[in-house]
Amino acid sequence: MQTSATGLKSPVLPGATIGMVGGGQLGRMFALAAMSMGYRVAVLTKSKREPAAQVVESVFVGSLDDASVVSEFASQCDVITLEFENIPAETIRRCGESCPTFPSHRVLATAQDRLIEKQTFRDAGLPVTPFAAVASTEDVIRFAETAGWPVIVKTARSGYDGKGQHRLEDASQAREVPWDSSAAWIAEQFIPFDREVSVVVARSAVGEVRCFPPFENDHSNHILDVSFCPSTLSAEVAEQALAIATRAAETIDLTGVLCVELFVINEQELMINEVAPRPHNSGHLTIEACPTSQFEQHVRAVCGLPLGDCDLRVGGAAMANLLGDLWDRQGNAPDWTGVLRTPTVSLHLYGKSDAKPGRKMGHLTATAADAERARGRVLAARGALEAPIPGVVTDSGR
Ligand code: AMP
Repeated sequence: MQTSATGLKSPVLPGATIGMVGGGQLGRMFALAAMSMGYRVAVLTKSKREPAAQVVESVFVGSLDDASVVSEFASQCDVITLEFENIPAETIRRCGESCPTFPSHRVLATAQDRLIEKQTFRDAGLPVTPFAAVASTEDVIRFAETAGWPVIVKTARSGYDGKGQHRLEDASQAREVPWDSSAAWIAEQFIPFDREVSVVVARSAVGEVRCFPPFENDHSNHILDVSFCPSTLSAEVAEQALAIATRAAETIDLTGVLCVELFVINEQELMINEVAPRPHNSGHLTIEACPTSQFEQHVRAVCGLPLGDCDLRVGGAAMANLLGDLWDRQGNAPDWTGVLRTPTVSLHLYGKSDAKPGRKMGHLTATAADAERARGRVLAARGALEAPIPGVVTDSGR
């Protein structure tokens, strides 16, 4: 059925086995979508207790560096995909020996390194935050001569949710960066953006492309807190965001789903902050809000099926993350009954037993007549968890 690690001769149809590298919540929601379409899912993960491992029939436990486990897993699959980009190139190469593996090792090599990613998009004429490769305090000072202060310095690899990131106000702060802790660094101009949006774009194994409408994102402590849709972008800027996401996916020859995170400046200019070649936290609201969720779209894309309809089927939707901070010190979960009583609010929990501050344990989604009401509703539902009150606050709009 399959031809090579980069192409599909014919679609991988329901009944086949999709391999998922990684056992977290993205793998879990992907597996649930795939299984509801009649696929079997095999998960390669570090423990049987991981979120995705709990919901599939076939689990391969081992390190991503363990060649024999990786080969055994891959031999059982018809197509393989992944839920995070920091996968060793050798693991992907080994998977590709058995069956098509999406996204390709080339896409991963780009997305694993902020410098390569930004260079690739800049060379393609896409707008990215002004940046430079830096290795020392002197390099940052030189960069700031043209870019100005403040400067954001990030590790080129392995950073997420603000980890490995330093905001430098002046040269003296640049001296405090732990330069030896990372082999490569990137300096970026600090962008005084109005808001952050993201576009999830899918590109199938046969080259069809579709974008979800832009999601608008609020962060707290560098971690995504709330996403809502439709965004507050003007129709014209929203179109530009979709065009940038489409070109980004084509530039890296993506097969699968790509999330393109963008800064919005002066309500009209867009700049790519970073991309992730997989479903994204900001797209979770698509489960309730769109005819095809980002997870089903990922299944369709890697299996070479026609892509689904991405338009909103509600006036507005909003998602709020549930972090481990909501659990008590003994690890007891909040009382969910109020949430479940709130009209249109859906509860998603990822099956993680170990609640730590900052850890993503689940999320809530609300739909309503518009984004503002959906946002108010999801925040009220989550707020009621933080300070339990009988009779959860609701509004009358749908
Ligand atoms: P990142 O890990 O690159 O997604 O960065 C995490 C968050 O830090 C972003 O969502 C922004 O809120 C902020 N940030 C990152 N880079 C910049 C920048 N160049 N200018 C302003 N804020 C930034």
